[in-house]
Amino acid sequence: MVTASPRTILHVDLDAFFASVEQRDDPSLRGKPVVVGGSARRGVVAAASYEARAFGVFSAMSMAEALRRCPHAIVVRHHMDRYAEASRQFFRILDDFSPEVEALSFDEGFLDLTGSERLLGAPRDVGTRIKQRVRAELSLVASVGVAPHKFAAKIASDIDKPDGLRVVGPGELIGFLQPLPVSRLFGVGEVTGETLRSMGLTTIGDVARYPEAALVARLGPALGPMLAGLARGEDARSVEPERAPVSIGHQETFEHDLCERGDLEVVLLHQLDRVAERLRRAELRATVVGVIVKHDAASNGPGFRQLTRRQTLSDPTSDAAVLVRAAASLLDQFDIDDRPGRRVRLLGGFAAGLEARQAPRQLALDEATRARGERLGDTLDRLRDKFGAAVVRRAVHLDDED
Ligand SMILES: [Mg+2]
Repeated sequence: MVTASPRTILHVDLDAFFASVEQRDDPSLRGKPVVVGGSARRGVVAAASYEARAFGVFSAMSMAEALRRCPHAIVVRHHMDRYAEASRQFFRILDDFSPEVEALSFDEGFLDLTGSERLLGAPRDVGTRIKQRVRAELSLVASVGVAPHKFAAKIASDIDKPDGLRVVGPGELIGFLQPLPVSRLFGVGEVTGETLRSMGLTTIGDVARYPEAALVARLGPALGPMLAGLARGEDARSVEPERAPVSIGHQETFEHDLCERGDLEVVLLHQLDRVAERLRRAELRATVVGVIVKHDAASNGPGFRQLTRRQTLSDPTSDAAVLVRAAASLLDQFDIDDRPGRRVRLLGGFAAGLEARQAPRQLALDEATRARGERLGDTLDRLRDKFGAAVVRRAVHLDDED
């Protein structure tokens, strides 16, 4: 088996994030069982302070059940804007330690520290410094795990919560994982956990020692090999920082080939309207508009031809009308009519040469941060729109690892 050289992955996770922000911002809540939700008496628990957890209150629980278990809990309505601001500050700190930061949610991320020891110091010291900065700048508490891969790093940050710091070196990996219950395996929920236990497998070590073929036969060709690999301490997933998109576009393949200019313009109108919406949501502008055309197969030609034409705009824009006008004029550059090989099988409109709406000249400096901010912003929009009983589960998933 080929073994990659050891990596150093650090996982940081804020402790009881939403509830801790509430306690930070309202001193009267400190030391008390705090439950964050959408409304006081209905709905689902989005987050619970450690004081509330002591009474068996957890994320995703119904508020009614939470109040039955902890009648004196203080129910606080969520403040998404505060969580978003804290999240931005949190990732700004992480960005100071590595260009390779992958955001998993508002309050947790992976950093790849491989090879950075000479620059940043030992991984344990990096973890300590991140924790110190989070405490000093955010008045929040972070837990940190360091391990040779993501799977173990995430467990390591969780295992000593709250205020944890656990480093698992390459030589300690197997010994760290094997005694843990199978529920710690990534991808094992209640059902799979029950299946594993019915097979007599209660720890990760049990899974590692079990014949892989038998595991695959029982759990299937996707989950079986994945769990076997994780149990043996293998996880090749890399840390994947968000990058700003290079272009935003939509394209469609038609059931019946098109050749009428009016039809094509209508399609472009719809596509670029959606493109413009995505630009605005991402706080970006396009400096280039493009059109992609794939023709049908000509009776005597070499098959489908796909062509792209693009135009630079005089002013960057996220205005659908401007994009559509430019795209429609680009149609002139294609040879489209009702003959084989000239009809349109696929049409797409896209925006490229993207730059930030606010600070166009600084895009290169912080595009990764910006892209992540967009994604977090979108998530926040959805939460804000839907922070009702059923959909609170989305919020809960964001916080249910701590
Ligand atoms: Mg957390």
